[in-house]
Amino acid sequence: MPDTQQIVGRFAPSPTGPLHIGSLYTALASYLDARSRQGQWLLRIDDLDTTRNVKGAKEQILKTLEAFGLTWDQSVFYQSQHLDDYYAFLYQLKHQQLLYPCTCSRKTLADSALASENYPGFCRDKTFTETAAHAIRIKTDQRTIAFQDSLQGLITQPLTSHGDFILKRKDQIVAYQFAVVIDDYLQGVNHVVRGVDLLEVTPRQIYLHQVLGLNTPEYMHVPVLVDSQGHKLSKQTLAQAVDAKSPERTIFTLLGLLKQNPPGELENAPINELLDWAQRSWSPGVLKGIVQLPAA
Ligand code: GLU
Ligand code: ZN
Repeated sequence: MPDTQQIVGRFAPSPTGPLHIGSLYTALASYLDARSRQGQWLLRIDDLDTTRNVKGAKEQILKTLEAFGLTWDQSVFYQSQHLDDYYAFLYQLKHQQLLYPCTCSRKTLADSALASENYPGFCRDKTFTETAAHAIRIKTDQRTIAFQDSLQGLITQPLTSHGDFILKRKDQIVAYQFAVVIDDYLQGVNHVVRGVDLLEVTPRQIYLHQVLGLNTPEYMHVPVLVDSQGHKLSKQTLAQAVDAKSPERTIFTLLGLLKQNPPGELENAPINELLDWAQRSWSPGVLKGIVQLPAA
């Protein structure tokens, strides 16, 4: 091992539709953060939620990233090809007596005033002899998770603010919260750059690192782009797919939105030149304190 650890970053889109400008914004930030420090940049496709996957979206995402010059290292990591890994870690946690089957229905939880935000532990004493359809939850304790986010500062959250959470859903789908922890470990990711909308769930992921004995990566949660109503751009708000016809213009605009102040003479520069410039002068600190940015 070299004594200075190489940076390994990643971008992890869900194939629920084509990439929109908001996801490209995050992709570019994470790309620049890794590349500016001679790091690797990996691509993972978060395709576990088969109820939301859209046919053809994976291919379209890869093509879009390529068109924008955001090339990744190694082969693409598909979550759907790693189910055995998730099960192996679930087994470990089960062995640690940290898991239990939860048969609560949405309705039971909705009827209990607190439960949609904070699971009250109704099923904590259930054992895996349970035959009814169930989710799998992990027991949490009284600890407070604290971490330093490189843009958002010190974040602290007591686990009691959400309680025991789901690692495998009732429909058998492995939960994002759990998969992401295993994926980052398997891919050797040590620098996570992603949208600030995921800041709130990060302590849950760190709790999983702690109980599994895995290293916690460094985190940088960047602002998300919002529409004119202040809503996060997402496929749900029908954000338009990025137009790959003039990728250089889009990258130039995104660099402006990332507050990198690209010089005017680069406005019509080829994409390699733009990205080279952006890597050399990458300074994410200017995004400190900003949580949302209007898309244009
Ligand atoms: N696939 C997740 C999303 O689209 C991102 C996961 C992550 O970056 O940890 O929001
Ligand atoms: Zn339950």
